[in-house]
Amino acid sequence: MSPSRPLPDTTGVAVVGGGTAGLAVAVLLGRRGIPVTVLERQPEPAPAPRGEILQPNGLAVLARMGLLDTLAARPCAETVRYHFLRIGHGPLATFDYSELDHPHPTTLVLLPGELDTVLREAATALPTVSLHAGARVSGLCRNGERVTGVRVLVDGAEHTLAARFVAGADGAFSRVRRELPVGGRTVTYPEGYLTGLLPRPAGFNRDGCYYLGRGEILGLFPVSKDALYFFYLLSPAQYTARRAAGDTRWLAERMRAIHPPLGEAALAVGGWRELEFFPCIRVSTGRWYAPGAALLGDAAHSVNPHVAQGRNLALVDAEALAEAITPDLLAGNAPSPARLHRWERQRRPQAEALRALGDELVLFWNAKNPLLVWLRDRSFKGLARNPALRRQVTADIAGMGPLPLSPVQRARLISPW
Ligand SMILES: Cc1cc2nc3c(=O)[nH]c(=O)nc-3n(C[C@H](O)[C@H](O)[C@H](O)COP(=O)(O)OP(=O)(O)OC[C@H]3O[C@@H](n4cnc5c(N)ncnc54)[C@H](O)[C@@H]3O)c2cc1C
Repeated sequence: MSPSRPLPDTTGVAVVGGGTAGLAVAVLLGRRGIPVTVLERQPEPAPAPRGEILQPNGLAVLARMGLLDTLAARPCAETVRYHFLRIGHGPLATFDYSELDHPHPTTLVLLPGELDTVLREAATALPTVSLHAGARVSGLCRNGERVTGVRVLVDGAEHTLAARFVAGADGAFSRVRRELPVGGRTVTYPEGYLTGLLPRPAGFNRDGCYYLGRGEILGLFPVSKDALYFFYLLSPAQYTARRAAGDTRWLAERMRAIHPPLGEAALAVGGWRELEFFPCIRVSTGRWYAPGAALLGDAAHSVNPHVAQGRNLALVDAEALAEAITPDLLAGNAPSPARLHRWERQRRPQAEALRALGDELVLFWNAKNPLLVWLRDRSFKGLARNPALRRQVTADIAGMGPLPLSPVQRARLISPW
C-alpha cells in the first residue's frame, strides 16, 4: 500500500479495511472502471502465523477473478482430505473433498498473507484503485441519513474523503458497523486458538488432521511444502496462565504426545513471539446496509473458525456486492436500498447457517462434558459409515450450502444401526 500517496478528496467507493473482503471488492469494482479508495489502518501488512483453508466456494470466486492460478503458484498446500481423530483413541471419520460435485473439489491451505498479497497486487495494478496504508477511518460523514464519505486519520491528521458509497470491510470489530443504524451483537466464544508454524516433518502427507479430545483440540495442516500449521484450543484465561509461566515446551510435548510422528519437529514450536493467540468472535448484524453504505466479510458476520469459512464468505460477499454496484454510481446512482436488500437476501442465509453450524461445532467439538463428547464421537462414527451424509456435511463446510442435516438425519448418525 502507499502511505505516502496523498488521499484524494473524493472517490467512487471508499473501502474501509484492506483485508480479503476489502481488497477483493476493490479489485472487482476497479476492473469495471469505478474509482475505489482502500483505507487500511495498518501501516504495513502484518500476516498472522496461521494457516487458513480456502474452500471450494472461495476458490470459485478466485477462479472467476482470474487469480486462482497466481495464488496456487505461491506457497500453499492443496489438501483434499481431512481426518478427524479422537485424542488417544484413533480415527473418527475422514472428509474427502474429491467426493464433491464442484468444479474445485479441494481446498487450499495457506498463510492468509499469501491471499491478501495476490489481491493487493491485483488492486495495485489497476489505475482506478488507490490503496492507502496507515489510514484509520475514525467515522462516517452523512447528509441526513445517507452516508456520504468517511473521516480518515493519517499520521495524526484528520482528512475527509467524500464517497458515493462506503463499503465497510473492517473486520469483526468494525467501526463502520458501529456507526451505522444496523444493530448488531458481538460475542466472544469461551475458547480461542493458539497458532503457529512448524517444519513439516518428512512423511506428513497432504492430508489435514483434526484431533478432538475432552476440552482439547489440536489441528495439524500442511501449509506449504516445508511448513505445517498447528492450532491448539485454549481459553483466554488458560492462555494468560500459560504465557505467565513462560515456557512453551508443554505445547511441544503435548503435540508430540497427541501426534507422535511429529517427533523432533514439535520442538521447533519456538517461543511466545512465534505463537499467536486468537480469541474467536461471533458477529451478528441486524442489517448489512444503510443508505450509501454496506458491510461485508467479518464486519457483517464473523463465524467461528471451526467452519473455516470466514475468508471464503468475505470473497463471496465481495463478488456479490460488486455486482450490486454499477458504474452509473458516478452519475449519482449509488445502489438503491432495494438493490442492497436483494444483495443481503442473497448472502445472509449462508452466513447465518454457517454461524449456527459454528455454534453447534463449538458445543460438541470443544466439549468437556462426557455426554456431549460421546454424542460427538458417535456422530463422527455415524458419518464415517454413511457416505451420503458425510458428503452433505463436507458440502456444507465447502460453502455449497446451506445444507444443514435434518433432525432425522442427525438421529440416524447416532443410532446404532
Ligand atoms: C484462528 C483462526 C482461524 C481461521 N481459519 C479460517 C479458515 O481456515 N478459513 C477461513 O475462510 N477463515 C478462517 N478464519 C476467519 C478469517 O480469518 C476471517 O473471516 C477473515 O480474515 C475476514 O476477512 P475480512 O476482510 O472480512 O476482515 P479482516 O481480515 O479482519 O480485515 C479487516 C481489515 O480492516 C482493517 N481495519 C479495521 N478497522 C479499520 C479502520 N477503522 N480503518 C481502516 N482499516 C481498518 C484491519 O486492519 C484489517 O486489515 C480464521 C480466523 C481465526 C481467528
